[in-house]
Amino acid sequence: MQNQPKASHFIDGAYMEDTTGEVFDVIYPATGEVIAKLHAATPAIIDKALDAARRAQKDWAAMTGTERGRVLRRAADIMRERNHDLSVLETYDTGKPYQETSVADATSGADALEYFGGLAGSLTGEHIQLGEDFVYTRREPLGVCVGIGAWNYPTQIACWKGAPALACGNAMVFKPSETTPLCALKVAEILIEAGAPAGVYNVVQGLGAVGAALVSDQRVDKVSLTGSVPTGRKVYAAAAEGMRHVTMELGGKSPLVIFDDADLENAVSGAILGNFYSTGQVCSNGTRVFVQKGIKEAFLLRLAERLAGVVMGDPQDPAVNFGPMVSGRQRDIVEGYIAKGLDEGARLVYGGKRVDRDGFYLEPTVFADVTDDMTIAREEIFGPVLSVLDFDTEEEVLARANDTEFGLAAGVFTADLTRAHRVVAGFEAGTCYINTYNLAPVEAPFGGMKQSGVGRENSKAAIEHYSQIKGVYVAMGDVEAPF
Ligand code: NAD
Repeated sequence: MQNQPKASHFIDGAYMEDTTGEVFDVIYPATGEVIAKLHAATPAIIDKALDAARRAQKDWAAMTGTERGRVLRRAADIMRERNHDLSVLETYDTGKPYQETSVADATSGADALEYFGGLAGSLTGEHIQLGEDFVYTRREPLGVCVGIGAWNYPTQIACWKGAPALACGNAMVFKPSETTPLCALKVAEILIEAGAPAGVYNVVQGLGAVGAALVSDQRVDKVSLTGSVPTGRKVYAAAAEGMRHVTMELGGKSPLVIFDDADLENAVSGAILGNFYSTGQVCSNGTRVFVQKGIKEAFLLRLAERLAGVVMGDPQDPAVNFGPMVSGRQRDIVEGYIAKGLDEGARLVYGGKRVDRDGFYLEPTVFADVTDDMTIAREEIFGPVLSVLDFDTEEEVLARANDTEFGLAAGVFTADLTRAHRVVAGFEAGTCYINTYNLAPVEAPFGGMKQSGVGRENSKAAIEHYSQIKGVYVAMGDVEAPF
């Protein structure tokens, strides 16, 4: 098997195997073939990883920020040099087209390593003068951080968690999704090659049980999960037992609001980016597309024309722009939602069917006349299904856009500047867009409100979630006491 890694886990600077761990298959979504077989981590492997991380963290934190940053920036350079190979692997892992992975995965991981590598040398506390006395604060690492990944962006998630954690002087044990376990091993390899001390970044494989064992371990100080809301609830609760810090990057059902004064072509592009990139398997997707009644038919017409540009096929072919879903299971779930949409009276205007070829392909699907109470407008589908909902007024659409338990992202397309800012101020969502959708540069905070999560990834905000402040009061005179 050409994608078989040297071993399942990467611990203390080297590949490591424990063949007593449960075997699980890695499947190439474009063909359904098994491309690697891995062993889930046993308790012994988990122990080794956490012990290595604990040991390595102290020395890593004792280095200067500039020294740590240099390692991260070197890793970024290596990732960029190997972008082609890493993108091919990302495509094997996820089925996403090479046309996407070559510009959005290792490159995004490298951006995070470079950005947080650059920040590492400027992380400071502050000085607070109190008359003669003063307080200073020390910005300290949390210790050992556990990262747990979803399957849609395996390289990116491994870096978005690892880069700020390491910049702040923490060590990480990362558990990729069991569906896409290959890419994080490459991130670990590259960090070691770039000069990271052994044990600072470890990868252990396994299903939810391995994640659960990590989250409740006493050696762990912080847990950062990217996953679904139900998993988030479990992980948050388990972390709370040990009063561990958390970042929760969870699911969404985000609104994309298109007013009738919007540039139609840009709005259609935004809806395409917000629903069909990565075959719709993006947490921040704007899957509830609210279109003002005046332009609804024009929008649907142009969307259908643009969908004719979909090129399905072998995702390793750079001409292909629409790949399979990540797994047969995920395709079944999405097909279930399509059936519900039809049952509940939504109008299917595009797609909706399996594609007659090997692998887990499903057509890009558009429903019109969707109403707020329909299942496809309420639940996260996590697949290529776009729902168009009609609206009349700004006030109405804002209330409807916010009428959801989720709050990950939201977008508005309009030519009216003041309306754009007013609507965005009213959105109950952590990641908002005006006249574009789904961009996630490392410089900008990313994360959700309400059930969509806790904390932020990327930007300077992430530093707050991977470090803690120690206040130190310094007295310059005698100590006054009541007796
Ligand atoms: P999932 O919740 O099924 O699994 C996520 C990870 O959690 C996996 O690695 C899994 O093994 C692990 N896990 C499962 N049960 C666990 C437990 N009890 N304790 C610890 N770990 C456990 O999610 P998924 O299907 O892999 O990914 C899709 C979901 O992720 C969607 O809801 C999507 O919106 C969300 N997501 C969010 C973001 C974001 O940044 N907000 C990004 C990508 C995906």
